[in-house]
Amino acid sequence: MIPAVVISKKRDRGVLSTEEIEFMISGYARGTIPDYQMAALAMAIFCQGMEPREISDLTDAMIRTGVRLRRVSDRPRVDKHSTGGLGDKTSLILAPLLACCDLDVPMISGRGLGITGGTLDKLEAIAGYRCNLTEEESEKQLLEVGCFITGATERLVPADKKLYGLRDVTGTVPSIALITASIMSKKIAETLDALVLDVKCGSGAFLEREEQAEALAESLMANGQRAGVRTMALITDMDQPLGEMVGNANEVIESLEVLEGGGPNEVRALTLELCVPLLLATGRAGTRQEAWSMLETHLDSGRARERFGEMVALQGGDLEVPLRLGRVRPVVVKKSGRLHGIDGQRIGQAVIAMRGGRKVAGEAIDPSVGLRVLKRLGESVQAGDEFAHVYCDDDSLAEQAVSMVASALSIGEGGFSGRVLHRPFPGH
Ligand code: URA
Repeated sequence: MIPAVVISKKRDRGVLSTEEIEFMISGYARGTIPDYQMAALAMAIFCQGMEPREISDLTDAMIRTGVRLRRVSDRPRVDKHSTGGLGDKTSLILAPLLACCDLDVPMISGRGLGITGGTLDKLEAIAGYRCNLTEEESEKQLLEVGCFITGATERLVPADKKLYGLRDVTGTVPSIALITASIMSKKIAETLDALVLDVKCGSGAFLEREEQAEALAESLMANGQRAGVRTMALITDMDQPLGEMVGNANEVIESLEVLEGGGPNEVRALTLELCVPLLLATGRAGTRQEAWSMLETHLDSGRARERFGEMVALQGGDLEVPLRLGRVRPVVVKKSGRLHGIDGQRIGQAVIAMRGGRKVAGEAIDPSVGLRVLKRLGESVQAGDEFAHVYCDDDSLAEQAVSMVASALSIGEGGFSGRVLHRPFPGH
C-alpha cells in the first residue's frame, strides 16, 4: 500500500478499509509512516469524518500497537475519561476516591490537547511525578493503593502517544472519529469492567453544540460496549471553566483543596456525579444516595486525600515541595452589566500563550502559569471588577494573556439565559 493513496482516498471522501487503517496506524506506531503523512491523514479524517465501522477499526488498530493491561486483583476495574475542557481536574480527585471504595482504577490519561489542559501535565507540576509507569510498576501500584494515573508509552497504546501529540499541534483535535479512537483505545487497553465518560459541551470544549456532544457520546459508548465494557456517559457544561483554576500547578492546588473537603463546590459535585454510576454499575452501592454518602465520607474523612498522597508518592512525586505559581496580575472587567459569555477558546489560548500548553509537539510547558477565574456566567459585574487573576512571571506574556482573557468576555444588559448542562446521556 502507498500512504499517499490512502490519504487521498480519505481526502476525497472515501471509506477506508480495515486493512488500510491497520497499515497506516501500525506503520505510524513503528515509525515507517512519518509524522507529516499521519498529520495529513488526521486532517483528512477531521474534514471528511469516518463511518462507525472505520472508527471501530481505527480504535482496534490503535489498541493493537501495544499491550493490554492485566487484571491484578478480583476488585472491579473502573475508570473515567473526559473529552477535554478548561479547568477539568476531576481525574485527580476521582481516581483515589474510587480506590477508597475498593475499586481498581488503572487510569491512562493524556497531556494538554488543543486549548484544553491535560491530566499528565497537571500531575507533572508535582516535583518528581512520573507518568511513564511500566506495566510491572502499574500492576504493583494497583495492588498497593488501587489506582494510578499514567500516560501512553512505547508499549501502552503507542499509536495514541504519537497521534495525540501530533493532533495537539496540527488543528486536528475536534474530530469525533479521532477523539473516539484516542479515548477508547486507552480505555479498552485498561481492561475495564465499567467506564464513565464526561462529554464536555460548550465554548471551552472541542464540540460546542449539544447535538455534536451527543454524537460523540454515542460513538464513545458504542465502542466501549462493543469491547464488553459497561460504558456510561454524562454530557456536562463547558461554557465556562470548571472551578476557578485553569493551568497546571494551580489545578493541582485546587484538586488538593477538594480532596481536603474544600474547593469550589462544582468541582466536588461533578466528581461525585461521575463516580456514582461506577459504584452502581459495580454493585459497590445499591442506590444513588448510598453511593453519594460513601463518596462524601471518603472525601470528608481525609481518606481520599491520603490515597492521593500514596498514589503520588508511588509515582515518584513529592507533595512536600511547594507548588509554585507565577506572579499574580488582575484581569479587569471593562464595562458594567451581566456576564453573558466566556469564550473558552480565547481562555485556553491565553494559557497556551503563557506556555501553559504547547505550540509545537514535545515543547516543555511552564507549570506555574495559569488563571484563577473569579466570576461565573450570569453574575452582574461593575466596570473595574476583577474577572480573573493571571499567574505568570514573564511580563510580556502576562500582558498578552490579560488582554486575551479580557477579550473573551461578553457583557450584556438584562437577564442571562445561558444553558446549564449536566445530564446523563440517554441509554446509560
Ligand atoms: N482525551 C483523549 O484522550 N483524546 C482526545 O482526543 C480527547 C480527549
